[in-house]
Amino acid sequence: MPELPEVETMVRGIRPFVEGRRIRELVECPCPCRPLTYRPGLEEIAQRVRGQLITSVRRRAKRGILELESGEAIVIEPRMTGLLLLTDAPDPGHLRLEWKLSGRKQYNSLWFWDRRGLGTVNLYDPDAYQALITTGRLGRDALEMEAAHWLEVCRQSKRAIKVLLLDQKAVAGIGNLYASEILHRSRIHPLAPANVLTKPQIARLAEAVNHILHEAIRYEGSTLSDGTYRNALNKSGGYQNAHLVYDREGQVCQSCQGSEVQRIIQAQRSTFFCVKCQKKPKASS
Ligand SMILES: [Zn+2]
Repeated sequence: MPELPEVETMVRGIRPFVEGRRIRELVECPCPCRPLTYRPGLEEIAQRVRGQLITSVRRRAKRGILELESGEAIVIEPRMTGLLLLTDAPDPGHLRLEWKLSGRKQYNSLWFWDRRGLGTVNLYDPDAYQALITTGRLGRDALEMEAAHWLEVCRQSKRAIKVLLLDQKAVAGIGNLYASEILHRSRIHPLAPANVLTKPQIARLAEAVNHILHEAIRYEGSTLSDGTYRNALNKSGGYQNAHLVYDREGQVCQSCQGSEVQRIIQAQRSTFFCVKCQKKPKASS
């Protein structure tokens, strides 16, 4: 958390108020917690971005990006608990950075808030940024994947499909929550080795990725019981109410009404699924 839909929601939320404005100043907020990771150092970043126009605001995988007129780009990775906000931090004690923006609008600052402080803020020079977005080092974005790409990725891996979905080098943007929901909609068992999936299963997987991620964006992401994720205006997302399996262990499966949602551990993470809807492949039984 946050995954692709949450980062996309943050980016869409800040874009109308941040694009086309100049950074008057980037300042660190007083916060007693461990500092974020900055590359280069925060002082150098602040100096280089001062006075620059923000030409566009984008998302790539689970990162938010402020592109600057110089061709440089500020790449922000929220990791576990980071948020991009225009107003009203969940608590002021974990505000980390403030971009003071030129001119006067409804919102005149962009904030980065991060409770655990695992987020990263990197400034790329123009060449390094172009290399970052064109070399595929960030992985192919989950919303750009088509069935043919999924077939290629799955054929090359014997790993369980759930574990493969979390590998950001294979496909970028999906995390633990949406992986369970995507496999449930695809009717694929999470332990199925990726390379035994049939073409119809992979077609369903491709459809489910698109469907689930777009639905989650439409609902502005999922705010779980810890309440951490908020949109740019500090409001909860709404997709948590539409989850069919995630965090529903022991509850009746809403898809078949005939079995209980089960939880297993894969690669140290919880996976939720329904044994009736998501049959185990013969090869691994
Ligand atoms: Zn079911």
